[in-house]
Amino acid sequence: MENYRSRHDELTKKIDSDATISNWRDWQWQLRNSIKKISTFETLTGIHFSDEERKSLEETVGKFPLSITPYYLSLIQVDDYQNDPIFLQSFADPRELIVQDWEKEDPLSEDEDSPVPGITHRYPDRVLFHISNVCSMYCRHCTRKRKVGDVDYIPAKDQVIQGLDYIKNTPQVRDVLLSGGDPLMLSDQYLDWILGELRKIPHVEVVRIGSRMPVVLPYRITDELVEMLKKHHPVWLNTHFNHPREITHSSRKALTKLADAGIPLGNQSVLLAGVNDCPRLMKTLVQKLVRNRVRPYYLYQCDLSEGLTHFRTPVGKGIEILESLIGHTSGFAVPTYVIDAPGGGGKIPVMPNYLLSWSPHKVILRNYEGVITTYQEPEHYQDPGCDGDCERCTLQLKFDDAEEFNAVGLEKLLSNWDETTSLTPENTERMERRDGGDQ
Ligand SMILES: *Cc1c(COP(=O)(O)O)cnc(C)c1O
Ligand code: SF4
Repeated sequence: MENYRSRHDELTKKIDSDATISNWRDWQWQLRNSIKKISTFETLTGIHFSDEERKSLEETVGKFPLSITPYYLSLIQVDDYQNDPIFLQSFADPRELIVQDWEKEDPLSEDEDSPVPGITHRYPDRVLFHISNVCSMYCRHCTRKRKVGDVDYIPAKDQVIQGLDYIKNTPQVRDVLLSGGDPLMLSDQYLDWILGELRKIPHVEVVRIGSRMPVVLPYRITDELVEMLKKHHPVWLNTHFNHPREITHSSRKALTKLADAGIPLGNQSVLLAGVNDCPRLMKTLVQKLVRNRVRPYYLYQCDLSEGLTHFRTPVGKGIEILESLIGHTSGFAVPTYVIDAPGGGGKIPVMPNYLLSWSPHKVILRNYEGVITTYQEPEHYQDPGCDGDCERCTLQLKFDDAEEFNAVGLEKLLSNWDETTSLTPENTERMERRDGGDQ
């Protein structure tokens, strides 16, 4: 920590000779002094590139802009910077210019599931609400790489009002995820207003904020901010730590403030080649997170956005990591490993297999140690035999609490009262022949 303090002092002076350590801890000062130029990066870190390197770096930054907070930059260990996880996540790499056929600008088709600008409505009961197009830092592995930095703006109030209206008029939305960019780039006052408006909508039960501030600009988590957030409970916050080195004295302080304000904290990591593709490293990360009251929530397979080729791992790497977490450490330290389906199918969980075989009486399972065991299934089991009528059912879900039930996807196939027996993909030649035959 002392080490960092003197590093912070030194960097503060290099950035602005009149500035002091209290400027350093001011998030607005950090933003004003974010590193956007390769030459500034060189001056501040003492890392120097050859003319040739600089040329290809400039080209990369021309396509995917650079922005690093002085705080995050201060975590780079210069002596082995090429392998430094902070450097790799924040500094341009010419390999970002490699484009492969299967890569897309919007691999998750967020735009297609967007009923009004700024809203992505993909799942039945929750929406993503993009209220900021700016970030305090541009992560090199960002899914929305093509958007962030492109048009640096905070959507105008009338666009936000349009989003709020959509939520107001869509009663099935009970969970709103404020996303971006980084929503904590907005001022406390503006956020307070948006949260207040959301809170006026009776069917909005929870609000979540997705922010990387605790990692890249922990000074954003001020007492004033948490006091404001507290007024709008239940507010949850998901952040984005990828490497144990990101957990510092300052980020711990930010997490403590948030947790003390009663905000449940989650973490979404992205599996990145050369940064965190190691079971031991991930175990260290998740254990450090839970010590700081952060629940590891998702581990994402790196998706198919352009410019991420060099970060991608095979899916087997994620399964290997989960294999070494499940059973080996606290259950609540284990994230769900997900692949966000290209084309907009949403997150698909992927796991090692624990169910080895099955008969009418028994299932055969294995545990994390490789012990193979059997579970004897009940001889007589009376299924409640759901016919979709909760009022007459013996299970006491009071009807007031029961939401109207619309089976979706595989739920339909499992239910007794829906007559669907198979789900059939459209647009196959076979189905087209059938349609043709009907007419
Ligand atoms: C991830 C995501 C959500 C939230 O999903 P959870 O599994 O509830 O965290 C909602 N909408 C979109 C479009 C998403 O990508
Ligand atoms: S466990 Fe292996 S891969 Fe992971 S950090 Fe240690 S040496 Fe590297």
